[in-house]
Amino acid sequence: MGSRYFMLLALGLAASLANIIGGWIVTSQDQIRRNFLNALVSLGAGFMLSATILEVIPRSLKISEESAAIILAGYLFVHLVEHTISTHFHFGEETHHEEMMDARAAYSALGGLVLHAFFDGALIAAGFWVSMQLGILLFLAIFLHKIPEGFTAASIMRASGRSGAAVVGAAAAISISTLAGVVSIAWSYALVQTALPFSAGVTLYVAASDLIPEVNKEKGIKVSVGVFLGVVLFLISEFLLGMFL
Ligand SMILES: [Zn+2]
Ligand SMILES: [Zn+2]
Repeated sequence: MGSRYFMLLALGLAASLANIIGGWIVTSQDQIRRNFLNALVSLGAGFMLSATILEVIPRSLKISEESAAIILAGYLFVHLVEHTISTHFHFGEETHHEEMMDARAAYSALGGLVLHAFFDGALIAAGFWVSMQLGILLFLAIFLHKIPEGFTAASIMRASGRSGAAVVGAAAAISISTLAGVVSIAWSYALVQTALPFSAGVTLYVAASDLIPEVNKEKGIKVSVGVFLGVVLFLISEFLLGMFL
């Protein structure tokens, strides 16, 4: 992969840092934050959905027919860790203080997020193994939901009555997990055969089953339209990357 390493590590670091920024804005002004996060969630959903269905799934199936089962496994993995082991989890601001007061509920929700974040990083690295173009495209797909994700982690801790170090620590935990995902796939091409389809399943879940429900919760058409803009943004990014790389 040679020269792509530097780019991969730089972008992997950028995606991890976005988690920290997301955790940090938990203390910012409510109204500005809401519009900003809603925009990122809807754009991110459309972009991720396009990247997964148009790029990652077809490429995974080209590697091997067994990829289909691995994609399903990735999808079910997120359902297991975020919604089966964890009794209460949703993307976005955690406002259900009663559910979160039980420390186990808060930490299991956070644990699910930490595990999914690992595959956010793995997907970026697997993309770079295929090509610089795919790597950058998948970075953009992941990056868009990283700030809302950091915010989700921090707000879970805050809703459970913790403050200070625990709130920042929650965002830091998913940030480190993302970077670990990047590094673990960066060193061996052999892992891509499994990491690419598995991460495709994970990303499909995050886009269609975590982010889209958040979009649908919002009243009015504005946030919904953002999903289509995310698709357009993906197509433009793909076109531009094809021209320059
Ligand atoms: Zn809740
Ligand atoms: Zn994620």
